[in-house]
Amino acid sequence: MQYYNLNEPNEIVDFKTAAIKGQGTNKGLFFPTSIPVLSSDFWKRFPLLSKAEMAFEVLRPYVSSSLSEQQLYNIAEDTFNFDIPLVKVNDQIQSLELFHGPTLAFKDVGARFMSRCLGLFAQTRSEKLTVLVATSGDTGGAVANGFYDVDGVEVVILYPSNKVSEVQEKQLTTLGKNIRAIEVNGSFDDCQALVKQAFNDDELQRNLFLTSANSINVARWLPQQMYYFFAYQQWADSLNPPVIAVPSGNFGNICAGLLAYQSGLPVNHFIAACNVNDVVPRYLNTGDYQPKPAQPTISNAMDVGVPSNFIRIEELFGKSLDNIKTILSGATVTDDVTLQTIQQVYQKNQYILDPHGAVAYRALEDYLQAHPNQKGIFLETAHPIKFIDTVEEALNMKLIIPESLNDLMKAQKQSTLMEPNYDDFKSYLIG
Ligand SMILES: *Cc1c(COP(=O)(O)O)cnc(C)c1O
Repeated sequence: MQYYNLNEPNEIVDFKTAAIKGQGTNKGLFFPTSIPVLSSDFWKRFPLLSKAEMAFEVLRPYVSSSLSEQQLYNIAEDTFNFDIPLVKVNDQIQSLELFHGPTLAFKDVGARFMSRCLGLFAQTRSEKLTVLVATSGDTGGAVANGFYDVDGVEVVILYPSNKVSEVQEKQLTTLGKNIRAIEVNGSFDDCQALVKQAFNDDELQRNLFLTSANSINVARWLPQQMYYFFAYQQWADSLNPPVIAVPSGNFGNICAGLLAYQSGLPVNHFIAACNVNDVVPRYLNTGDYQPKPAQPTISNAMDVGVPSNFIRIEELFGKSLDNIKTILSGATVTDDVTLQTIQQVYQKNQYILDPHGAVAYRALEDYLQAHPNQKGIFLETAHPIKFIDTVEEALNMKLIIPESLNDLMKAQKQSTLMEPNYDDFKSYLIG
């Protein structure tokens, strides 16, 4: 499989190059030159495949130019080594719990897959790769955990001092080894500005081979399609495929689901569930695409004003809004309704939602009210404990802290405090 640059279609690269570069010339996203269709033989064996076997078969065409079969199988086994259960909430709705990975959020899958690919690619290079990431919370933890102890790759994470939760900070700062954390005395935007300046600094690039681990990287995007296959394997009603609601921010996750659908996965309908940062739902309803600055909400991992993966959805459907609308609709859920949903679902079904899952649940329930003969799945993308303040306040009770977090909270923070000053950052990187 080759990948072309959506902004510069003449730039065509293999998986390895796309994964190392992250994005192409002129900030273009890489996109597969063809979408593989799964064989009837695959579907015959589907019910009995393990997660790693299934991931191996689905992802093989995407990486075959750059990874051997054994390498891919090992990476798949290592990436998908935790539960991804489909849990019944009520008669119409099930939750696909994507939060059983090491940092309790769905970004673990993409980060683990990408880190293991880069680790292999680094072995054939003389110089180390340095991954730079600015994080407002969840991404940094997943990247730190995914890349921990991967040979040939150094990771530098920048986060805004006092602006991430305690759990998030511990996930970023307690690992050590090849993971270093810089605590920037400023905002997330300051962190991002430092990273951007580093990528534009030719002198620095001559000293270090820099790459980013952001969500548009194909090695983070492609493995996410597996969630949808795992969900369908656990879906009992093969005559009526599910409606699937996805809490969406940068639209990488739902775009991966649509890719799975194009490969032949049975899905009745997709819902892009957004908080008030709803550029895409508004576009689907009005035909008018109007990016705007992000507004802060309680489902903050979806506070994105310019969703970077939407262009891939357009490409998947031949750039036709009418085609997109045959399978995808959008919904907007405000913070008030999100909180009410957390309360109602707990009262009725004793199921605890996190704010992101709650947005998707609400969108799905509304859709199913208008389509009462259908049933659906929403993606629960984070453990409620990661948003403990919001959820405890909504439910007026204490949440039980998972065992894995107790150990984390006892670990010692190691970080370098820095002013948002590029010269300091650069000498840190070179030194
Ligand atoms: C990143 C994130 C999302 C949004 O996913 P996208 O792929 O950016 O649309 C949703 N929920 C949680 C908890 C996240 O961390």
